[in-house]
Amino acid sequence: MLNSIYGIMPEQLSSFLSSEFPAYRSRQLLKWIYEKGVFDPFQMTNLPVTMQNYLAQTFDFSMPRIVQSLKSIDGSQKFRLSLSDEEQIEMVLMPETKKLTLCVSSQVGCARNCAFCATGKMNLHRNLFPHEIVQQFLLASQESTRRITNLVFMGMGEPLDNLENVLSAIKLIQDNTTLAFSPRRTTISTCGIIPGIYTLADSGVKVKLAVSLNSARNSIRDELMPVNRKYPLTVLKKALLYFQKKNPFRITLEYILIPGVNMDDADLKALRQFSGDLSCKINFIPFNTLPFLPYLSPDEKEIESFLQKARAALPQTITLRRSRGQDIQGACGQLVVESRKKSMRGAI
Ligand code: SF4
Repeated sequence: MLNSIYGIMPEQLSSFLSSEFPAYRSRQLLKWIYEKGVFDPFQMTNLPVTMQNYLAQTFDFSMPRIVQSLKSIDGSQKFRLSLSDEEQIEMVLMPETKKLTLCVSSQVGCARNCAFCATGKMNLHRNLFPHEIVQQFLLASQESTRRITNLVFMGMGEPLDNLENVLSAIKLIQDNTTLAFSPRRTTISTCGIIPGIYTLADSGVKVKLAVSLNSARNSIRDELMPVNRKYPLTVLKKALLYFQKKNPFRITLEYILIPGVNMDDADLKALRQFSGDLSCKINFIPFNTLPFLPYLSPDEKEIESFLQKARAALPQTITLRRSRGQDIQGACGQLVVESRKKSMRGAI
């Protein structure tokens, strides 16, 4: 099997090709892929035929197939991609006036089984390879008339459970000879994988970190996120303090609002205690109801009242993020491949 061209770091590619072709040819190749979005070596018209043939015989240029594309009334677009082994993943493009955010997957399924998340119910099928992450970016760029401005690892999977491949993909996407994508516009979201937070902090790769917190009380977080039983809040806090020393960007604490679960005064008090000495912002996200999950969405009154109290109690910047693409099940925690969803429903 040939190596995918989309997972090879530019400097490796240049040094590999330099034995056969002048150095400027690899720059031309990178331009075709990353600037012009051309994925067929025979359409790279300024390359000599000998090089086109060599590339086709040496590397795999194939891309995942888009097997479904759904557009939300809010403009978000969810794509289901079929990978070379027929596994499927989803990615979501979310346009705003000045931003176009791409939410990518890092795994097929997820092992972390958070109680509010459909992906977690799929279990883990496998990690994505670096090229399969880069391919999501390339395909999404091709599907959009606008330039992608923000990249978030909040799709299917826990990125820190596949950190090596995620970091390789990010290095490739941020490389000056490919997409030169901005570190401050790249966000990894984690449920709180402690060794991964330390490794990411020490990796030298600059990205923003978002932590899916959802409760600052161990008893509740244990229920919502089984990862908390292994890595409880005190160790999470220690890891975040370490991360913020090593990384220039402010951490975001994501907090899904679930009435009757994590929206009491005691929850706010615990959140204040947890976030007190962190340089962070706090992002509240109303829960999206899903038929096979046992939680309700908060109504507008509940959201407004909680926000008012939070703004009075917490010194940090607080934002409310309305999930995008709910009508196409493209919102936070809603990504799941159809075949598995049917079997899940059957099992419940
Ligand atoms: S919220 Fe993230 S970590 Fe938790 S199950 Fe879903 S995909 Fe996995």
